[in-house]
Formats: sequence, structure tokens, C-alpha cells
Amino acid sequence: MHMAAYDQDNIFAKVLKGEIPCHKLYEDEDTLVFLDIMPRTEGHTLVITKEPAPDLFGITPEGLGKLMAVVQKLAPKIKDAVGADGVLIQQFNGAAAGQTVFHLHVHIVPRKDGEPMRPEGAKVADPDALAATAEKIRAVL
Ligand code: AMP
Repeated sequence: MHMAAYDQDNIFAKVLKGEIPCHKLYEDEDTLVFLDIMPRTEGHTLVITKEPAPDLFGITPEGLGKLMAVVQKLAPKIKDAVGADGVLIQQFNGAAAGQTVFHLHVHIVPRKDGEPMRPEGAKVADPDALAATAEKIRAVL
């Protein structure tokens, strides 16, 4: 198995330790779910493992199964909460593939008919808008 190094001080490790705030939507023993602060669409969510894996290849199949079970459970609810028509699930491994935070995470990106995604890393969303979206989603989870 390919094993990339894990940086204990990456951004999501800090979110997990509570050193950086997040708009939390859901949490269980193995998983934390929160809004992406540079959302490609409204409701853009990240599902991360609590296990410190840098990418898809640094986790056990069982750990990956738990992560994806949460993605499967939450994605349709998040889609409906923001009134989207479809939902894109994305996951990047390595800088060359577009990964920028080296802690395993899966993107849930609600998509509306005919509405393009905002460009990647465009800008940090207004915190009040993120809080309102988080509220809307938490109400249906
Ligand atoms: P990637 O590694 O390309 O899968 O993307 C990492 C994602 O994390 C990007 O979509 C960023 O907008 C997002 N991001 C970066 N910092 C934070 C943060 N502090 N809280 C929430 N999302 C973040």
C-alpha cells in the first residue's frame, strides 16, 4: 500500500483538535462533517475521518467503509436541504490530482440544474451565509 506522510498540523487536524472553528453538521466516533469554507456550490460539505490518514491509501478498508457510509447517508439529505437536483461526490489524492489538504476527506457538492460550480479556491464565503446554510442542513439531519 502506498503511504504518504501525515502532517499532524494540517488544517483538518487542527479542525479536529478544535484549534480552528468549523460549521459542523454531523459527528460520530469515526467521522466529522462540516461545510467547506470556499464552497463550489451552496451546501458544499466535507466528510473527514478522525483517523489521521493523509489520503485514501492511508486508511483501512473498514475505516474507508465507515467514511463512505456517512457520505452515502448524508449526501441526499444535504442535496434536498439546499434544493439541489444532483450531488457530486469528489475525493482527491496527491497535489497532482488537486489535493490541497493532506487529511483524507470526501467532498459532497450539491448541484442544481444549469448552475455552474464556482471556481476552486475562489474565495472564503461570508461566515453568516455559511452559518445559515449549516442551520438549514442541520435541520434535516
Ligand atoms: P482538496 O484537498 O483539494 O480536496 O480540498 C480541500 C478543501 O478544503 C477545499 O475545498 C478548501 O476550500 C477546503 N478548506 C480549506 N480550509 C478549510 C477550513 N478551514 N474549513 C473548511 N474547509 C476548508
